[in-house]
Amino acid sequence: MRGQQGLRFGLLIVVVGVFAVSAVFSYLRHSETSESLAMVHKTSAWAVSELDSELLKFTQTLELVGLGARNQEQLILRFDLLWARLDILQTGSENLEVRNLAGAAELFDQLMTLLQQHEAAVFALQPGERQQAKKIFNAFHPLQPPVRELHVDSFYDPYQVGLDTELPVNQVGFGLSMLGLLLSGTVLVLLVVRESARNRLQALHDDLTGLPNRKYFNELLRYSEINARYQQTRRGLLVIDLDNFKEINDTLGHAAGDELLIKVAERFRKCVGPDVDVARLGGDEFAVLVEGTVDNHRCVQLAQKLCDRLSHGMEIRGNQVFIAASIGVSLYPDDADTLDQALINADIAMYLAKKDDGVSYRSYDPAMNAKLLRRRELSEHLRQAIVTDQLSLNYQPLIRLASRQVESVEALLRWHHPEYGYIPPLEVISIAEQYDLALELNEWVIASACKQSVIWQSLGLPQIKMAVNISPAMYAKHDLVGSVSRLLNKYGMDPEQLVIEVTEDTTMRDIESSPGILKGLRELGVDLALDDFGTGYSSLSHLKQLPVQKLKIDKSFVQDLDNEPRDLRFIRSIIGLADSLELEVVAEGVEQQHDFTDLDREGCTFGQGYLFSRPRDAAAIERILREQQLGQLLTHAG
Ligand code: C2E
Ligand code: MG
Ligand code: MG
Repeated sequence: MRGQQGLRFGLLIVVVGVFAVSAVFSYLRHSETSESLAMVHKTSAWAVSELDSELLKFTQTLELVGLGARNQEQLILRFDLLWARLDILQTGSENLEVRNLAGAAELFDQLMTLLQQHEAAVFALQPGERQQAKKIFNAFHPLQPPVRELHVDSFYDPYQVGLDTELPVNQVGFGLSMLGLLLSGTVLVLLVVRESARNRLQALHDDLTGLPNRKYFNELLRYSEINARYQQTRRGLLVIDLDNFKEINDTLGHAAGDELLIKVAERFRKCVGPDVDVARLGGDEFAVLVEGTVDNHRCVQLAQKLCDRLSHGMEIRGNQVFIAASIGVSLYPDDADTLDQALINADIAMYLAKKDDGVSYRSYDPAMNAKLLRRRELSEHLRQAIVTDQLSLNYQPLIRLASRQVESVEALLRWHHPEYGYIPPLEVISIAEQYDLALELNEWVIASACKQSVIWQSLGLPQIKMAVNISPAMYAKHDLVGSVSRLLNKYGMDPEQLVIEVTEDTTMRDIESSPGILKGLRELGVDLALDDFGTGYSSLSHLKQLPVQKLKIDKSFVQDLDNEPRDLRFIRSIIGLADSLELEVVAEGVEQQHDFTDLDREGCTFGQGYLFSRPRDAAAIERILREQQLGQLLTHAG
């Protein structure tokens, strides 16, 4: 591809070169010809005009001598000058062109013969010899008109002069250069036309997958909308976004990510019909335009089919990769007045499908817009809530299973909105991340947890650690180490009392900087826990690089332990893995007594869950800690 482009470029350079040389050559030839014609014209015209005037002066002097008004010397001078002029015209090489004019040479010969014949008579003529003078005059006089004519011709029709000699040579050169110009010009135009057609094609298609790109898709939408209006038919739009593509890209590398996109595009292309267009809008986002007979059922079926096709794993550079997608569906004109608006609606539906776990596609409905508007409104309220301390923290104990003592508490965010009531922390976090509030919110949580921890210590309660959760944007975009260090100092908290929880997924989002960020936190002296472990894509080699102390097994593996023997095997292998990496294991979501028994038996060190305690406010935790001081252990949900 690149070689071909080089060749095309080379060819273009050659053609432009030939064009330029031809143009310069043609210009030089033309100016050379003009110059030479001008020179010839000037010299010849001048010589003939001199002859004409000398002949006139000679005949006039002859008449005057005949009348006795001029002396003999003056006549001889004019005769000699006339002879000289004629001689120049007859022999001078610069006057060849004049001699070549029709009848010129004969005229000169005739004049020369006359001069020779009358030389003696002119020299012998005395002033006043009227008859003799008249005789000589009559001999020369008839030649005056033809000489005058020659003079006029050579002066006013310069291209007659030299046409026979110079021009044939010029014509060949000029013709050749014109041919060169014509040929190179034609090739140039053809190349430019071809190149611009190719560029247009490239500008409208995605380089990687060959699918129409966003620009082309927008054009398709425009035409399709005009047709749909005219035919009064429907159009369907699907927006598809791959799930976890970034993680795959980061884990397996960008080349593998590209290969995956090519394969995904191929699968999409193969599973749509002739009246369906697939485009790649950018990144891992695709769009589908459905024409023909369209209704919601057909679009949803297509969405399902696309998801099914994706769900078959694909081989990428020796790895079996499974990818899923979130799809939003919207219909024109049912959901929107224009196809552009339908695309926005499909995007909203896709966004909400992505937010809902276990949902692959969604059809747009107007309530979705309201949901998004609510999110925007909530983001404004959240900004206020952070500043005015309307948020709060609950704390959930982590129990050492062997001793049943509270080892630490996890701070969990709570927001009771005055109008909308309780808003789950995951939604709060996602709003904060979307509306650029991650730094403020995370710092608020760390600061509040530090303050509370210091208060408990000052009350002389049993020493327990405080765990806080860190959101992905705080981890990836902001100076987490700097924030933690500053807040520890500000509230005078012992770094060893703090545990930072980061989800496995979050560490994967920034796979290159992760070890560095966690190392920075470790250097401050804080403990690190890998949250929701088992749900992400991290590899053993990635895990080995992370200086964490705890793995928190995601509650989805714990909650169904008695029904799902595979979960127990999974937990067993995580405990084995943690042992070999010298990490502690916490099981999240322990709700049932038998979960606790199973986990204890498998050698899990810590547990957290409703069985021991739900997340509680600070006062309730204080009571639990006081009871523990008195020897009462936390074994039942309170
Ligand atoms: P997480 O860090 O895994 O926190 C544990 C979640 O499991 C908490 O949900 C907790 O209430 C819930 N849980 C604990 N024991 C049980 C149980 O036995 N059964 C069940 N079904 N659930 C249990 P919560 O408080 O709704 O928080 C959900 C997630 O929101 C947290 O998951 C964490 O990822 C995030 N989150 C909560 N607070 C914060 C915060 O302050 N900052 C950040 N960045 N994320 C937070
Ligand atoms: Mg957590
Ligand atoms: Mg968790």
